[in-house]
Amino acid sequence: MKQRLTVLGSTGSIGTSTLDVVARHPDRFEIWALSAATQVDLMLAQCAQFRPRFAVMASEPHARLLADQLQANSLPTQVLLAKDALEIIASHKEVDTVMAAIVGAAGLAPCLAAARAGKRLLLANKEALVVGGQVFMEAVRQGGATLLPIDSEHSAIFQSLPEDPATWLQRIDKIILTASGGPFRQRAPDTLRDVTPEQACAHPNWSMGRKISVDSATMMNKALEVIEARYLFGVAPAQLEVVIHPQSVIHSMVQYRDMSVVAQLGTPDMRVPIAYGLSWPERVASGASALDFHALSAMTFEAISDHGHAERFPGLQLAWDALAAPAGTTAVLNAANEVSVAAFLAKRIRFDQIHHVNLATLEAVPLSGSDSLAALLALDLESRRVAEQAAHRLAA
Ligand code: NAD
Ligand code: MG
Repeated sequence: MKQRLTVLGSTGSIGTSTLDVVARHPDRFEIWALSAATQVDLMLAQCAQFRPRFAVMASEPHARLLADQLQANSLPTQVLLAKDALEIIASHKEVDTVMAAIVGAAGLAPCLAAARAGKRLLLANKEALVVGGQVFMEAVRQGGATLLPIDSEHSAIFQSLPEDPATWLQRIDKIILTASGGPFRQRAPDTLRDVTPEQACAHPNWSMGRKISVDSATMMNKALEVIEARYLFGVAPAQLEVVIHPQSVIHSMVQYRDMSVVAQLGTPDMRVPIAYGLSWPERVASGASALDFHALSAMTFEAISDHGHAERFPGLQLAWDALAAPAGTTAVLNAANEVSVAAFLAKRIRFDQIHHVNLATLEAVPLSGSDSLAALLALDLESRRVAEQAAHRLAA
């Protein structure tokens, strides 16, 4: 039996890499539904290649445009227009696996639908878990879903952990997430105010969507990943450590109680964790090239407390601060960061002001420990409003 897949965010960086892996294994995988925000032309090409039953676009005008084009090209894919179309394609009984590759909290609702429906859920969309937190993990447990991390660090950790999750906490001492340090690892902190969106999006090792590229440049991406790891693996925040490793060869590691360290290595190519999530517990070809150990000149490491990194990347510490605060604080941090990054990309605020907006939002939004989905969504909305105001004040 072929695995039937829904790919949410199929036109993005992770979405297209997923389809690349899928196309290598027509005997194993079949595309059942695709979704995108606005890229009608690419979606049309994907429908022509993979012939899904359904396609979803984020807005009605784009959906209508796609439907017209599909008809003009005599393609059988049906465009779903329902308000909850993403939830439908993420939870339909004919679907086995859902790749969650939408960027931002916009992906939370379909992730929860897939979790509740007991799907095999491949999670690239880290913001959904940072917002949903324990509510997300509870939906996975109650729905009997199989949650497999796609973020390269979390895939590396998952591959380095013992097979039985019940034994994780007794055996491990800590989890060490590696970070490349992004494009500004060696830049003088007081010059970060001059960074342009183009410079921030030029990552030295990975080619990714614009939002995560900016997050990598501020290291808020690593902050989101620390939070993601806390929820995925159930470890205490104090057991999560970040080390800068500019070559991106070691994708993360687990240190056990006996001080043995298990790491996962590979070339920086997201098709590796994607292929692993698709085929787990088996392994299939990913299309990635092999790591050439003879060409590797060195693997180096830098502490966050060194080289001025704490000053350069003030957002990283917010992960532990938010995890120590009442439940829901990680949702506030995520919402603030989505707003501040968008404001920076639109050239409304400076690069160094991303952190100021995030801090101002964390300080202004009242918290009382949100433990339901409704409360988290309300908090997300309120945080966006507060962050917009903070960005507006800075822009003025
Ligand atoms: P991207 O911007 O390249 O793609 C995002 C996709 O989501 C696109 O298909 C877009 O059409 C769709 N989308 C955007 N906003 C939407 C909305 N409001 N409603 C519905 N669809 C929407 O982003 P990406 O780099 O592929 O990242 C996707 C997710 O994967 C992010 O959460 C990111 O943090 C995570 N991730 C990405 C990488 C990477 O290498 N790119 C690595 C690890 C994790
Ligand atoms: Mg990552």
